[in-house]
Amino acid sequence: MSQILVLKEKSNERLLFQDLYYVHKPVSVKTSVTEAVCDLCKKGLEDGLSVTAISTDKKTRLCCDNHFPK
Ligand SMILES: [Zn+2]
Repeated sequence: MSQILVLKEKSNERLLFQDLYYVHKPVSVKTSVTEAVCDLCKKGLEDGLSVTAISTDKKTRLCCDNHFPK
């Protein structure tokens, strides 16, 4: 913020000029990307297996074709 106070000699006026400007800091977002692999055998698309996400009570588990519960 900057301020300028102007005093006029002839009158008793005082003028105050104010500038308000907000500083926008760049927000950095941290992300991480990992290949989806089976939680049990750690194999994924590179091994020719498709990986499916399964939501259990609290966790999301990743299972390949071989370890997908039937
Ligand atoms: Zn597996």
